Amino acid sequence: VVIGVPKERKDSEHRVALTPAGVHQLVQAGHRVVLEAGAGQGSGFADADYAAAGGEVVASADEVWQRATMVMKVKEPEPEEYGYFRPGLVLFTYLHLAAVPALAKALLAAGVTAIAYETVQLADGSLPLLSPMSEIAGRMSIQIAAHFLEKAHGGRGELLGGVPGVPPARVVVVGGGMVGMNAARIAVGLGAQVTVLDTNLARLRELDQMFGGRVRTVMSNPYNLRAEIAGCDVLVGAVLVPGARAPKIVTTDMVAGMNPGGVVVDVAIDQGGSIETIDHVTTHSRPVYERCGVLHYAVANIPGAVPRTATLALTHVTVPYALCLANLGVEAAARRDPALAKGINTMRGRVTNEAVARSLGLPY
Ligand code: NAD
Repeated sequence: VVIGVPKERKDSEHRVALTPAGVHQLVQAGHRVVLEAGAGQGSGFADADYAAAGGEVVASADEVWQRATMVMKVKEPEPEEYGYFRPGLVLFTYLHLAAVPALAKALLAAGVTAIAYETVQLADGSLPLLSPMSEIAGRMSIQIAAHFLEKAHGGRGELLGGVPGVPPARVVVVGGGMVGMNAARIAVGLGAQVTVLDTNLARLRELDQMFGGRVRTVMSNPYNLRAEIAGCDVLVGAVLVPGARAPKIVTTDMVAGMNPGGVVVDVAIDQGGSIETIDHVTTHSRPVYERCGVLHYAVANIPGAVPRTATLALTHVTVPYALCLANLGVEAAARRDPALAKGINTMRGRVTNEAVARSLGLPY
């Protein structure tokens, strides 16, 4: 199989679909990998590194798409790339088709086999190709909060961990899943006083065990949320109700009860946000705005700030699936691995994932 890796086209996207190590693995398995020159630059990988790993670096995206039988990307193709679609081409990337109906239409019309990272799902319901990004966003959320708590960055002028004789800042994390757990971990590491709220008691039990008493766990309901958020310095939104928009569980008056100069980081913004005072998405170039005397951060692609780490973490989970697809072909790979079968969104002009079909209003 010839695997193609074009440079990402989306604005400010610096990740790349394969590292030199990933190229090496695919080449060792007997495949060829064609990469667009400069594809890895934003993540700190030079063309020479790819060539040394056995990849073939070519000058243009045209050449990559034309030679490849399977294209690996990070973000969904941009409209300028739709022209490369053709029958039988395999595309393996984050797709989020529900959000881009025009892309779904183009993939269906051209008969592309599109496999979406975000719908590859294990039997326990977890999403192995999304988890690394949640780990990164969760860990980043506290780093971001620490930054904006500094006076010069508009915050309260407070050190998360305090110092002897000065109490630490209070951090409240709403949602104790992958994002919330990683946020709690870094906050505890920096010495903050951390509370995690979740509606899932089994999850709170796990967190209680995991942190050995260094994190307060509290059942999430409106009464407890209000009590915990009152007088806190940092609020991290990390809730997810699978397949639904994030519920607006933190109200404006709860946010108004935070310490002035505090910081809200709503990681769940990519699902619409879980905090009432977050009414728009912010960007890496304009990351915060002020509401109720508190800074609000609502960047939808937090891992974009650390493309090198994000590329490494992403490819560690995608490459084994890419190998399976390339070695066996899509159909045999899907028969062998039900998780991968769930990843297939379009094939031979039809939508093949039920949830995606439903959200697009297309037959399944
Ligand atoms: P997850 O499923 O691992 O965890 C979500 C948690 O929220 C679960 O433990 C669930 O029980 C809990 N929850 C649901 N309703 C709740 C409520 N009312 N109160 C308290 N807790 C509640 O999901 P995750 O991987 O941690 O992802 C969380 C969110 O972060 C998702 O929306 C995800 O898309 C988003 N995310 C954003 C970025 C970004 O860059 N902004 C990056 C990665 C993930």
